[in-house]
Amino acid sequence: MIQPLHPILTPETYHKSGVKLYIYRGDLEHVNAPGNKWHKLKHNLAQAKQQGAKHIISFGGPYSNHLHALGNVCQQLNITPVAIIRGELQPQLTPTLRDFIKCGGILWPSRRDEYRLGMQSSLVAAVSECYERGYWVPEGGSNSQGVNGCYDWAKTISTMAEQQGLNFDAWAVSAGTGATSAGFLACSTTPDIMVFPALKGGGRLSDEIKRMALSQNQQTNLAKLQVFDQYHCGGYAKLPPVLQNYIKTIHILNSNLKLDPIYTAKVVYGLEQEIQSGTLTNKRILIVHTGGLQGWRGFNM
Ligand SMILES: *Cc1c(COP(=O)(O)O)cnc(C)c1O
Repeated sequence: MIQPLHPILTPETYHKSGVKLYIYRGDLEHVNAPGNKWHKLKHNLAQAKQQGAKHIISFGGPYSNHLHALGNVCQQLNITPVAIIRGELQPQLTPTLRDFIKCGGILWPSRRDEYRLGMQSSLVAAVSECYERGYWVPEGGSNSQGVNGCYDWAKTISTMAEQQGLNFDAWAVSAGTGATSAGFLACSTTPDIMVFPALKGGGRLSDEIKRMALSQNQQTNLAKLQVFDQYHCGGYAKLPPVLQNYIKTIHILNSNLKLDPIYTAKVVYGLEQEIQSGTLTNKRILIVHTGGLQGWRGFNM
């Protein structure tokens, strides 16, 4: 059995630098909803149940890890998931959306300009009319309940590290909306939080992460936050050869470890670039694997 928190082997660069890398294997948690998405859904599901919701309505792209997790967990709760999909639906459907349907989920296509408005879109009223007792969850599960779930997750991981006698200078995590990093930042037992945005324009995330963290915990030490926004590798769903090779290298060194192409690979890659540049002050770093391996089905590899 693989331990949830273990050291990982890294390319040469690391050895010389004295940086020690560990990884927390969120990808091995929860068979039906591995990674961070379950943690973001946890309190949302409890609230939906409490309100007697019959439907949970959310948003996502055709390969969304969030929708994949949502479909799987709703099935067990006897709640019907409804997904507003970014853009039109292709008749074939992606493997992710086919899984969603197999869980009893319902799909709504959208215009991209409307989709972008999220909860402000006119789709919200139109969809609400069709599905009674709906509980709405924003894209990625990134509302205050989502941050709260990641805050709990951070507590669990830091307790585990402590029990193993491990002290870290920093945790490294990928970001899309930043809700996961916000929950980690807000937790008083975490060290520095190094955030690697997977999307372009991630520099703007910093303020957003701070805002979410403060609303979770007013005492949040914001100085723990470090955002590294130059490792998005072209943005969402781009997998340049340098990143592909990097994923392979890590997998060859650590045969039981797979990184996902959109999020976690950029964390490990970005960390190595930072180490090469010689500016990194944190030496003992814990990468939190946020899952997302089902997303490989969107790539021809
Ligand atoms: C959704 C996702 C993220 C981003 O989480 P945010 O809370 O939106 O920042 C990171 N990693 C994986 C694998 C994801 O699926």
